[in-house]
Amino acid sequence: MAALVMFVGDFMEETTMPARTTRQEARARIRAAFEAQLDRMIPEDEDVPLKGATFSDFEDQVETLARTTLPVAIEERAALSPHAEVETGGRCPYCGSDHVYLKQGATQSEVRSPHGPVVLFNQYARCRSCDRSFSPSGS
Ligand SMILES: [Zn+2]
Repeated sequence: MAALVMFVGDFMEETTMPARTTRQEARARIRAAFEAQLDRMIPEDEDVPLKGATFSDFEDQVETLARTTLPVAIEERAALSPHAEVETGGRCPYCGSDHVYLKQGATQSEVRSPHGPVVLFNQYARCRSCDRSFSPSGS
């Protein structure tokens, strides 16, 4: 959770970037999530006993590894999209007008992935001509 809060903080400072993160930051966050869970599952210290005894236990451990790290990979990949953050609202998809403004800030939404919940950022634009709201990135 702490990593997510930091990530939101970085996002607010980098409003001029089309992607919400850099490759280097994305790779580091994915790696950190994986390493943290791997350390719990298979501690490097040989004196720390391994948990679990049955194949079912091992499957559960790997499932936990997947659920804690794969959503992070999805979030980071989405944040690297060139459409992750737009600077203008573009054209209204309903009436075609370009009298569009971006609403302040972004909202977060949680979507289900096959590996667990993923937090995505959404921006909204509003059309001055027809007064409708839409996602400027089309997401
Ligand atoms: Zn419109």
